Amino acid sequence: MTTPKTVAFSKHSTNLFFHILTQCNLKCRHCYINPQQHGQNALSLATIKAWMAAFAENSAKTNLILLGGEPTLHPDLSLIVKHARNTGFGSITVDTNGYLFHDTLAKVEPQEVDYFSFSLDGATRKTNDSIRGDGSFDACLAGIEKTISRGFAASLIYTVSSVNIHELEKMGPLLKELGIHRFFIQVIGLRGKAAHQQSVGAVSERLQVPRAQWLEMIPRVAREVAKQGITTIYPKVFLNLDEHFECAGLVADNYFIFPNGRVYRCPLCEDFPIHSLQFRENVLEKTARFNEADLFQLNIPEGCVMNKLVQPQNLKYACPGKPEYKIACCLLKEEIRGQ
Ligand code: SF4
Ligand code: SF4
Repeated sequence: MTTPKTVAFSKHSTNLFFHILTQCNLKCRHCYINPQQHGQNALSLATIKAWMAAFAENSAKTNLILLGGEPTLHPDLSLIVKHARNTGFGSITVDTNGYLFHDTLAKVEPQEVDYFSFSLDGATRKTNDSIRGDGSFDACLAGIEKTISRGFAASLIYTVSSVNIHELEKMGPLLKELGIHRFFIQVIGLRGKAAHQQSVGAVSERLQVPRAQWLEMIPRVAREVAKQGITTIYPKVFLNLDEHFECAGLVADNYFIFPNGRVYRCPLCEDFPIHSLQFRENVLEKTARFNEADLFQLNIPEGCVMNKLVQPQNLKYACPGKPEYKIACCLLKEEIRGQ
């Protein structure tokens, strides 16, 4: 079955995107980490445990994703993972650029980590390294090999932009060769450095992929990869005018936690101090209005309000006030199970 299934938002599961530090060894061109908004500190093990405790009640239904920066730079990552498993989180994923510092793989067991999730943004060294930095392609492939040979499951995330979409079709054979279990195609969001690049207006580098090209290529490549037995997930991005729009901020349970204590419900809000929750003295509290939650309530013909505010170049209008299509919530995904 190669028909994509829209992964509907569910209030019955929670996703916790926990940035345990913002430090990183790489300087990717599209990095969304914004130290001014997210902090520059690494959280202590004690603080991480305290913040995890705020979500412990529903832990069995909670997917924990540990992120950075580069989370393997955190010297206590293995202890964080073990504590998360003991807390009973439904799944634990560690996102990494592949460098796997502090001998991470030797300090955790395959039953403690559901997935190591690697980021690669090109099927060739040349393209990937032009985005993520010299040496990052080889380091990522070596990290994947080591991870899989030690019995862990591995995912791969490919962030599609105008500078690497031409290599997406080449990813299928590479994923198969590497033994990847899940493939995530991501759309570049205009956040962090990518937002800056776009705003300085390098005409030669419009990072976002036009709608026609996205619709022609992404579902087709996803189907091809899934046929090789690799479950493939990609964002829906565009909705026809008659398709139902939902804002995950209202109907789903996602938390994006940063080391400065800010907790967002929407990733597109992360460049602005409009987080709706905040850890204060290790207690998760609602922030004062105005905040992102006020934006979630707005009903506009273009679909996602934040998209219209931060990346309106995604939209096209038949006439003023009448968009040709809607932009879906950036968290709405299509999934094609590997067969
Ligand atoms: S590996 Fe991730 S956190 Fe590090 S620079 Fe690249 S995108 Fe940013
Ligand atoms: S991306 Fe748009 S639709 Fe999704 S949570 Fe944010 S504001 Fe809501």
